[in-house]
Amino acid sequence: MAQEPLLEVRDLAVAYGSVQVIWGISFRVEEGQVVSIIGSNGAGKTTTLRSLAGLLLPRGGSIRFRGEDITALPAHARVNRQIVLVPEGRQLWPRMTVEENLLLGAFAPAFRGRAQERLARVYDLFPRLKERRRQLAGTLSGGEQQMCAIGRGLMAEPKVLMLDEPSLGLAPKLVEEIFRFVDDISAQGVTILLVEQNVKYALRAADHAYVLETGRITLEGSGRDLLHDDHVRTAYLGGA
Ligand code: ATP
Repeated sequence: MAQEPLLEVRDLAVAYGSVQVIWGISFRVEEGQVVSIIGSNGAGKTTTLRSLAGLLLPRGGSIRFRGEDITALPAHARVNRQIVLVPEGRQLWPRMTVEENLLLGAFAPAFRGRAQERLARVYDLFPRLKERRRQLAGTLSGGEQQMCAIGRGLMAEPKVLMLDEPSLGLAPKLVEEIFRFVDDISAQGVTILLVEQNVKYALRAADHAYVLETGRITLEGSGRDLLHDDHVRTAYLGGA
């Protein structure tokens, strides 16, 4: 029998009040993979991740994690299962230090005992955060803030790390750097679900990818196949 996927979403439908924005999408994330969901502004990428994190309750469909139906579980119960969201726009505490922000990622009782060990691992991955550990998070550069937000997510020892537009607002060199970190984190065995408008990088990083267009999945394939797909090239890569 085939192994259960780490995350399996079936016919997910999500609405804000009477306005439906996700129209029955299905996708899966296998353990150890990097999966990207690409799409333009307003396609529903953030809404999808917020539903997986338990911050929005879907109108229909199901979300299974290691075979367990988690569709109705509250957000904290998903964090306890190590389903971790790094939200769009970082959402750090600007008047707290880098280290205080990181430690907040390990606030759940199950992780507290290992916080110092996790902190050391995050600093190994992001030496720049270690150098700046006593700096207020609000004074970090955009790239450093993104590192801090990802580091805070790693503090919860994610089984699946969901990254919402990690490259948003970053200069091209920093985008490259952030995606190198995505590769490094994946190499450590963390499963990653990434949503991005930066289609080129998101597909390069992905084992498998989905195209989300106005709340529907219109295409899927390996990252490499989608990079060469005519529709993707025309619609998202400027025909490059
Ligand atoms: P972006 O890259 O611009 O963040 P996205 O693909 O992440 O886009 P979502 O933020 O999920 O898209 O938004 C999907 C749709 O849902 C959009 O039309 C948006 O206007 C709408 N929407 C998002 N949040 C709300 C809300 N709180 N109330 C009403 N509509 C919302």
